[in-house]
Amino acid sequence: MPRQHIYLFDTTLRDGAQTNGVDFTLHDKLAIAALLDDLGVDYIEGGYPGANPVDTELFGRDRGLRATFTAFGMTRRPGRSTANDSGLAALLDARADAICYVAKTWDYHVRVALETTLEDNLASIRDSVRAAKAKGREVLLDCEHFFDGYKANPDYALACAKAAHEEGARWVVLCDTNGGTLPHEIETIVKAVTAEVPGDHVGIHAHNDTEQAVANSLAAVRAGARHIQGTLNGIGERCGNANLVSLIGNLKLKPEYAESCEIGVTDDKLAHLTRVSRSLDEILNRAGNRHAPYVGDSAFATKAGIHASAILKDPATYEHVRPEAVGNRRKLLVSDQAGRSNVLAELERIGIAVERDDPRVARLLDVVKEREAVGYAYEAADASFELLARRMLGKVPQYFDVTQFDVNVEQRVNATGERVTVSMAVVKVTVGDEKLISAAEGNGPVNALDLALRKDLGKYQTYIKGLNLTDYRVRILNAGTEAVTRVLIESADESGERWTTIGVSPNIIDASFQALMDSIVYKLVKSGAPA
Ligand SMILES: [Zn+2]
Repeated sequence: MPRQHIYLFDTTLRDGAQTNGVDFTLHDKLAIAALLDDLGVDYIEGGYPGANPVDTELFGRDRGLRATFTAFGMTRRPGRSTANDSGLAALLDARADAICYVAKTWDYHVRVALETTLEDNLASIRDSVRAAKAKGREVLLDCEHFFDGYKANPDYALACAKAAHEEGARWVVLCDTNGGTLPHEIETIVKAVTAEVPGDHVGIHAHNDTEQAVANSLAAVRAGARHIQGTLNGIGERCGNANLVSLIGNLKLKPEYAESCEIGVTDDKLAHLTRVSRSLDEILNRAGNRHAPYVGDSAFATKAGIHASAILKDPATYEHVRPEAVGNRRKLLVSDQAGRSNVLAELERIGIAVERDDPRVARLLDVVKEREAVGYAYEAADASFELLARRMLGKVPQYFDVTQFDVNVEQRVNATGERVTVSMAVVKVTVGDEKLISAAEGNGPVNALDLALRKDLGKYQTYIKGLNLTDYRVRILNAGTEAVTRVLIESADESGERWTTIGVSPNIIDASFQALMDSIVYKLVKSGAPA
């Protein structure tokens, strides 16, 4: 039997833009659209043309995308003709390949929210689909609150879906708008719909309020739907939308779906899934979810010693799929529970050749345990572990030496009478025979120190140009008798690689300094900077 194509419809730029704290610029939207297009999704929903300046500009230009670029908006308003509705006119005039309308399909909402008759709402669906078809657009209808509507009045909800299909809408998309429906209900109701509207014209749009948006989308596919709407990393208002990243992993790698369906994401592009997911977090300027299925930093991280030794013998023992398939990587955490096998496996991954019974391995394990006892957490700081291991095996050059630093925080009243806090750092560095002094102001003492430290490293400056700090986390710990501060810094570079470094000290500046130094030295090592 030929495999069924499941169409992926991304709504990161429209429904995802409803996320608390998310505000995409035009540049963000174009960058995300390019990521999605390259990944292989079939549809990209850009936003509401006419609703705000960013979306109006986005739909006014040529985007050069392969995917079907879709504009979103409402069906004609009650009591108006399509010719006499300015919102609809903006939607019809937008430079889009397809138009996705949202319409009410729950009789209660039609009467109470729209304040119109059930008949007029059906006529609005028909008229609007017809108007977009006349403009040569592909048409989709998002049936708002479809599942609640179906439970309340199945005949009416179905009548809405059928009206759109009869007028030639390519897709009738069943929306679980408040996210409260459970997978078995989705499967039953979608089955009832696909008995009336062919499944290759039926889609699902699930929200994650019971944390089952991915499961609900897959349930709809089992019941015959052939179109899934979701967002990158599941962003969206409240608890988010169906996570397209997890859906792609499941559809590509789980035999039940992989054998009966196909999607536009090739195996080669699947290996970019982790990068695409993390690029979105980068654009949102937020730390990614370490525990995200398939693509999270911890998705293939194993801690306990016995699991690690089993994984070394055969990774399939503890992993449901190969991490490389989605562009992620296996991680054996080095921690105070760690056995020799974790350390050996980690050394192998880093590319440090060492004999199994080399006494330096036992020594490294001892040092890791001693340091973890005073507050270090190497399982969270892969780059600091790598440097520690390389140093103990004698392989890190002394690139430069910070001979002195001074950090100053001053609060004063400025010339306009405002109370301001100013941070400044001065750093003295020796690079070979050169002695360099750099100063910088920052929006806090750590930021000032970071800027001063990275301002001038002489001949190494070109190697750290692309280095950026992407996250900074502080915890106060009780280790032994006194409180200490643990700082974790996440960095990224021009290649998109990310790494985390750690510092521990009773003094927050000193802990930050250690983590900053490790980050810079790690970057120099990985860039192959000469000693
Ligand atoms: Zn939605």
